[in-house]
Amino acid sequence: MFIRTLRGHRKDMPSTSLRCPFFKVVTDAIVHPLLHFVWPETCPVCGRIGVPCCDSCMRTVISPLPSFCVKCGAPYGFECCSGSIPCHALSLHEGLSRELLLNLKYKNIRSLGMPMGRLMGETFNDLYADILLPVPLHKYGRREYNQSLLLAEGVSQISKIPADDRILFWRNDIVPQAGKASSLRHMMPIDAIGASGSLKGVTAVLVDDVYTTGNTLRAAISAVEKAEGKVSSVLVWSRRIPSQENEAVWNRE
Ligand SMILES: [Zn+2]
Ligand SMILES: [Zn+2]
Repeated sequence: MFIRTLRGHRKDMPSTSLRCPFFKVVTDAIVHPLLHFVWPETCPVCGRIGVPCCDSCMRTVISPLPSFCVKCGAPYGFECCSGSIPCHALSLHEGLSRELLLNLKYKNIRSLGMPMGRLMGETFNDLYADILLPVPLHKYGRREYNQSLLLAEGVSQISKIPADDRILFWRNDIVPQAGKASSLRHMMPIDAIGASGSLKGVTAVLVDDVYTTGNTLRAAISAVEKAEGKVSSVLVWSRRIPSQENEAVWNRE
């Protein structure tokens, strides 16, 4: 059973309590910080404490975009790139969707990863693959865990397709993409990611957190294909649609 915040309880409390200044001072200064200390996670939507985001609140982000070509970002199914591969995004990179992803990536709220992945697995439930391959965590990055692996594990729970983070790896001398301007992200070489061992006869679905330029995913696809594997589709939590306003914010992420 979850415990709601005091803010949530106030609706049910006697109005005299609400009007009492002492009650407000005590709750704001002591009780609420104490509860937050005991249960540091709080749902960003309804304020429920003890969870990083309630299941029902998280479901409000589901707004799948039409499939697009992972190589160029154009709508999938029309002539664009040779060997076009569909990319499925659960939502746009904005609002709650963006907030949850930033909490997962930068606030170390690891417990968000699996439920977010399960939501991706439930939404895109017609996957055709032998294996799920998360985009690897860069070894020069500062994160303690690979958020794409957590998402892939969540997808795996639903799809029953195994996830494996030991196959794809970043080659040396490639700096992390996060924090770079979009123009610089284009400078990443196509062989930036490698695959260990042969993937002959293996069909994979790639899993990543966010689609921006597609550069990282193109490098991951290239690695799978060089290992003689095949990528049938790509799943991402969200897609960034560039605009001047968004770029200014995103480049700080
Ligand atoms: Zn909630
Ligand atoms: Zn294309």
